[in-house]
Amino acid sequence: MNLSEQYPIHLSNSLSGKKEKFEPLVPGFVGMYVCGPTVYNYVHLGNTRTFLTFDTVSRYFRFLGYKVRYVRNITDVGHLESDADEGEDKIGKKARLEELEPMEIVKRYTEDFHNVMRIFNILPPSIEPSATGHIVEQINITKKLIDLGLAYETNGSVYFDVKKYNQSHHYGILSGRNIDELMESGRDLDSQDEKREKVDFALWKKASPAHIMRWPSPWGEGFPGWHIECTVMSTKYLGETFDIHGGGMDLKFPHHECEIAQATGANGKTPVRYWLHSNMLTVNGQKMSKSLGNSFLPSELFTGNHPMLERGYTPMTVRFFMLQSHYSSTLDFSNEALGAAEKGYKKLANSLKLIKSIEHPGNATPDKELNEALQTLVADCYKNMSDDFNTAKTLAVLFEMSSRINDMKSGNVSLNKIEPAVFESFKKAYIGFMEDVLGLQEETSSDDKLLDGTIRVLIELRKKARTDKNFALSDKIRDDLKAIGVQLKDGKDGEITYTIE
Ligand SMILES: [Zn+2]
Repeated sequence: MNLSEQYPIHLSNSLSGKKEKFEPLVPGFVGMYVCGPTVYNYVHLGNTRTFLTFDTVSRYFRFLGYKVRYVRNITDVGHLESDADEGEDKIGKKARLEELEPMEIVKRYTEDFHNVMRIFNILPPSIEPSATGHIVEQINITKKLIDLGLAYETNGSVYFDVKKYNQSHHYGILSGRNIDELMESGRDLDSQDEKREKVDFALWKKASPAHIMRWPSPWGEGFPGWHIECTVMSTKYLGETFDIHGGGMDLKFPHHECEIAQATGANGKTPVRYWLHSNMLTVNGQKMSKSLGNSFLPSELFTGNHPMLERGYTPMTVRFFMLQSHYSSTLDFSNEALGAAEKGYKKLANSLKLIKSIEHPGNATPDKELNEALQTLVADCYKNMSDDFNTAKTLAVLFEMSSRINDMKSGNVSLNKIEPAVFESFKKAYIGFMEDVLGLQEETSSDDKLLDGTIRVLIELRKKARTDKNFALSDKIRDDLKAIGVQLKDGKDGEITYTIE
């Protein structure tokens, strides 16, 4: 039995509102689409949580042996300031304010986004398509929706006819919104309005003379609506029906609801089997938002240069902090919680270093209970991650494993009592869940690097003293280092290593 059968994944499907067993469309493969950033500004920490969530999800699928195609887009056109298809294009506005070409804005903030992802050890997706690279496909599906009678053109813009779609399908299937209420609520349509109903949304917008980003289309020069890009790019790379669609909770409505309507309308198929939504980040109980002044940029977080931060925290501390709660719960950001996360991360990271240095002697007089306990810990890591990617519970198991590792290192637990195969699977699991699944890698601070460099200089001096037969000096270097807790160890090949107590 392979790992994915032994530990089948169950996930909370936002579409059904239930926890369901994951059954891939094609055995052994996972197709996953996640709404990426709109690259008009520096990515803030709230956005980072979403991408970290789906990074962990894709990492775990791969860890179980699935082949994953992970598509995460870059929105570089069409995202207007208001969800009601009004206001300026976010990127066009920034370009105007900064007196730059829109594509200069896109490049600057895409690079920033990629940097932040790298710093947090969030792996790149398999494909990262951009909206401007798929204008032709967006025009084509818009044409198709008009031909099917599900969209209409007014004055050079094209809108999706929600009321018409709802006659044969269910608009609101994901968000639970009621179409009658949606048609009543919100701003009243005036005579200038091009939409037939308030609930309709833009597939294509006519560009005003001042609008910078524009393309020719059958309806004149314009630009695509925001929702259509995700439908086009997800189905192009993953098929008309694919396994998983993810994104932040705030995208459920209208964005994801509109994606379902467009794709179902155009292709006659349910586009997504499992919808996953990650919850938001709050700060001292309040929603993280720019207007409240409580949103941090990752750079502010690392330096501590923000009025709400007592000091700086490292990327791995922040990653650990985010993994401490389930992705579907809100996560509250505070200095206290970060301080605690820092301690927790350091404990687990230290054990990671230790376990890598521990080798089993080979033979054993096994202690049955101990071996079973270690095997249970390994199985618990898988069970917790397979239970809707419960990183919080997985971390709790890793803490127990960390205590065992310390016991092995100190000699409290003799390696002779552990079967070699059990030890190997325990070691492999600890390293695998830390590094491959949770993405928690060892972090060396500049202090650590300085210390390491200094010790290596002393080791070289000691080697030189020995070659010169100056044993008084070589012993003094060894003893003085030992007195401050640095233990040198002579290897068989003449290499000298050290451990710090
Ligand atoms: Zn999207």
